[in-house]
Amino acid sequence: MLNLHKAEFIRSAVSAADFPRDGRPQIVFAGKSNVGKSSVINRLLNRRAFARVSAQPGKTIHINYFSIDETIYLVDLPGYGYARVSRGEQERWGRLMDVYFAEQLMTLGIQIVDIRHAPTADDRTMANWFLQSGVPFVVIANKLDKIKRSEREPNLARIRETLRLPEACPVIPFSAEKGDGREDVLVLLEACASGGVDVAGGA
Ligand code: GDP
Repeated sequence: MLNLHKAEFIRSAVSAADFPRDGRPQIVFAGKSNVGKSSVINRLLNRRAFARVSAQPGKTIHINYFSIDETIYLVDLPGYGYARVSRGEQERWGRLMDVYFAEQLMTLGIQIVDIRHAPTADDRTMANWFLQSGVPFVVIANKLDKIKRSEREPNLARIRETLRLPEACPVIPFSAEKGDGREDVLVLLEACASGGVDVAGGA
């Protein structure tokens, strides 16, 4: 079992030279700014402010690496889709993503979307990057606590359709606020740690 208490910040990567290449599994988190990516990571680790809940959405164009139990990395990709970023920052984001995806260091891709809304064009682009990379891929539908029970299934179906997810790609309802879905994601982290994540990838 992974010891989630043994979590530490490793570094903020701004270029390929900074990516760890020690062969440990890398579980990659992506999501639109403000979707709750930091909150999801904090909930998984049951920490309050481990991954920083960002005060300035969209301003941090670097990749944060966290080590868990000296066994796996959680890789926190910079948020996207924040309205008030300059073209220069958008380009910097795109270049950093190109470099990260090109290196094929990912073990599992996790994209976080908001269960309340249809995924955006940016969400679709991100999902396509994961699917085209062929890496095992799951979607976390966060903020479950903000919808009525009756909205859950239709909203999950809308996410699946809008992102054009293959049948085998799980969409996990999650609440960083309440903890729903945490166990489902921890099972995946454990599987990555023991070398056998059992989720279909993209084409
Ligand atoms: P990030 O920019 O994607 O890292 O998003 P943050 O983790 O900073 O969260 C953005 C906002 O959404 C914060 O105000 C969080 O408290 C809130 N939030 C995140 N996850 C949830 C959730 O599951 N439920 C609710 N109600 N609020 C959430």
